[in-house]
Amino acid sequence: MSGAGARLLIRAGRVVTGTGAVLEGASVLVEGERIAAVGRSADIGTPDGVRAVDAPGQTLIPGLIDAHVHLAYSGIPHKRAFRAELAELSYPAVALRAAGYARNSLRHGFTALRDMHAPGGAIIDLRRAIDAGHVEGPRIKACGRGLSVTGGHMDQPGWADHAEFRDLTRPCDGPVAFRQGVREEIKRGADFIKLNTCVSFWKKPGVWCRQEMTNEEIAAACDEAHMQGYTVAAHTSGDEGLANTIIHGVDCVEHAHFCDERIIELMVKHGTYYVPTLLVNERNFDFSPQEQGVSPGAWAWLNAAREAKWKSLTMARKAGVRICSGTDAGFMLEHGPVNWKELALLVQGGLTPLEAITAATATNADLLGLEAGRVAPGRLADLVLVDGDPTVDIAVLGEVGRLRVFKGGKDVV
Ligand SMILES: [Zn+2]
Repeated sequence: MSGAGARLLIRAGRVVTGTGAVLEGASVLVEGERIAAVGRSADIGTPDGVRAVDAPGQTLIPGLIDAHVHLAYSGIPHKRAFRAELAELSYPAVALRAAGYARNSLRHGFTALRDMHAPGGAIIDLRRAIDAGHVEGPRIKACGRGLSVTGGHMDQPGWADHAEFRDLTRPCDGPVAFRQGVREEIKRGADFIKLNTCVSFWKKPGVWCRQEMTNEEIAAACDEAHMQGYTVAAHTSGDEGLANTIIHGVDCVEHAHFCDERIIELMVKHGTYYVPTLLVNERNFDFSPQEQGVSPGAWAWLNAAREAKWKSLTMARKAGVRICSGTDAGFMLEHGPVNWKELALLVQGGLTPLEAITAATATNADLLGLEAGRVAPGRLADLVLVDGDPTVDIAVLGEVGRLRVFKGGKDVV
């Protein structure tokens, strides 16, 4: 273990900075938990007292970040099994189990995660335990509970009265209640605010999205969060509800399957971050509707979203929208071994491998407000040494045996 003043020198075949540049034959000098210098190996040399790591055939990239996970959930695919599992777990049990999931994500190269809601705000406690050094794990930004209208997304009926898990979300109704909800989550220790503004819909043919929060509710929640210096993310589906989400102040839209040119223009105009969560949607098609316990209407929606999301991604990339990489791990996806697949799908959707890495590093770090995500002096030394070249073959990121992970300049064992 290296102490606060320890110096580490990594000489790599190439360094991917996280902002689109690739430096051939470069070295990175780390002092304590931060990067002190980046440059040609010949220029940096071997400063006194460094621990040198020689990796001539390898690629050094910033630690990967998953911008959309749910550490409270196991990834179990069937809806009924998902509910049964949650009903058995107390909040401390959720946090303890999540610690294992978080550590597994770290071992697979993900040095930071953004947790998009957890029952009881349990992941805020996990973040505190990791920050205090009680357990090893990635850096976490957590929203606590999401906020939704009564009976809305994540406040759906069907839980028995005796079931312990009734606060997957905090129901609020009206602008005043949403403002109070924002204040409560911030008091609890949230890093950002999550809203559920617009959702999937399949009761009218050809209409796939429905706005759930009113414009006044969205505006009040965003105003309160921004006034206190917090950003706001929203679960969205698309169409008019998505446009209103952006117009009324949300900083980052999740999923957003159904976009059109106007919505993309709004994202550019407002500087909105976009987390398309391609992987969770694709994952549905590894199972039959019966295996998942979804209705024929929901299945039709999943197919429509599958078609729409690629078009939305193409438009967003062309327009220069800030595209982030996030999986929705925890829902039908296990934590750790599959998070990298979102980068592969971004490449399938038209991004270059280097652009996909930028999405999962520098852009995600900006979204999270993290001083990581870039190989640059002053940044936190969250790094992954990859045996191979992910700018040529993104799939090397999926082989854990090829990864050597550093968090804050220390080896992750
Ligand atoms: Zn989610």
